[in-house]
Amino acid sequence: MEQYDVIVIGAGPAGMSAAIYAVRGGMKTLIIENKYPGGQIIITDQIDNYPGIIENPSGAELAMLFQKHIKKFDVKTVIENIDSYDLSKEKHYIIKTNKNEYETKSIIFCTGASPRKLNIPGEKQFTGRGVSYCATCDAAFFRDKTVAVIGGGNTALEEALYLTKFVKKLYIIHRRDKFRGFKSLSEKIFKNEKIEIIFNSKPLSINGEQSVNSLNLQNIKSNKEQSLNLDGVFIFVGYTPNIKNLPENLKLNDSNYIIVGNQQETNIPGIFAAGDVTDNFLKQVITACGTGATAGFSAMRYIDNY
Ligand code: NAP
Repeated sequence: MEQYDVIVIGAGPAGMSAAIYAVRGGMKTLIIENKYPGGQIIITDQIDNYPGIIENPSGAELAMLFQKHIKKFDVKTVIENIDSYDLSKEKHYIIKTNKNEYETKSIIFCTGASPRKLNIPGEKQFTGRGVSYCATCDAAFFRDKTVAVIGGGNTALEEALYLTKFVKKLYIIHRRDKFRGFKSLSEKIFKNEKIEIIFNSKPLSINGEQSVNSLNLQNIKSNKEQSLNLDGVFIFVGYTPNIKNLPENLKLNDSNYIIVGNQQETNIPGIFAAGDVTDNFLKQVITACGTGATAGFSAMRYIDNY
């Protein structure tokens, strides 16, 4: 069985930062990722709030730099699915994957979050055929077409503005009469002539045949329903933490985020968590990196004090 000091679960910004801090602290470190390294930023069009990175790289470009950084420190990354954890013996935790079995003194969970679903008829059926959760990935398919963006947070507003570079017309559907996102973004939305805002409305169903051709909405004040003819629906209604397959006794808050203390420690000794899967206040690349760094350092200190 391969033995490590620290195993990081997830290779997004939090996981890669945790690994850099652990390995620089002399810890034998492994990252286990289930898809591909990079995390959520790889579908982000532009990063413009990461200090020192002023050329507005895409999220994918920034993720490549992070990967280069972990390669520089020879951190091993494997793409494997975790089947089980055995946490019965402190500092001898066992992780079984579909390919291997590892023993580790400490684990850092950096599994991130995924786009929240609306769970309305047609959403699942038309995902990839008009329903999307990523403007950067799919905007080009909607050149000169009509789309709707669902949501009123910063993601919805930013992605809507990006989409207007491609589409002919864009509706923003928000369930309240006021956006949740930054005022500066709302102002840009109000000024953009391609955008029609529909407040106080919730989507009821996404309809089509081969692909999406309409969206049914309901005004939540008047209960009046309407149907919009369109080609695509982009859904940005927040995120849910990726907690599938986490150890059962890991304490989560009411929204299923891992509860951590200010050293990113969880309720289980030697187990830390960082980034968007935790109950940290701000969910950004910079905070994922910061909390990842703290978790990597905390794991090292936990092991060194042994
Ligand atoms: P968010 O801030 O949680 O906003 C989610 C939006 O979706 C809200 O407007 C919410 O409506 C709406 N919503 C939620 N469930 C819905 C449902 N079932 N049906 C219809 N609408 C629904 O999520 P986010 O925009 O993805 O942002 C996540 C975090 O990242 C936030 O902290 C945000 O500030 C941050 N962020 C920052 C930047 C930046 O700094 N440039 C960019 C993107 C995101 P209500 O408003 O009524 O709750």
